[in-house]
Amino acid sequence: MALILLGKTRCLLCSNPIQSGEDVVAFPAFLPTTHELTFFSDAPFHRICFDADSRNESVNKLYRKYREIWDSRPKHLNKMEEIEAWGRKAFKNFPP
Ligand SMILES: [Zn+2]
Repeated sequence: MALILLGKTRCLLCSNPIQSGEDVVAFPAFLPTTHELTFFSDAPFHRICFDADSRNESVNKLYRKYREIWDSRPKHLNKMEEIEAWGRKAFKNFPP
């Protein structure tokens, strides 16, 4: 998840620092850097800025799909290399 330092970290849409008490949207690095929406990957935003952006539905849809795949991982996997091997297969066709 994107690291947020209140009063320092800037919203990538309006460039203003995110202040304490402001509603925030932050995504982990869930898209490859070559994806058209990579701007939203590993990045924080004010909720109000994100909701006003025309790309928000596409981003939410992709992120839901990402979570769905991630949440489907077999619970018996607990070694990092097992999880990574599973992830390579599970995310082979993500993003669509
Ligand atoms: Zn903002």
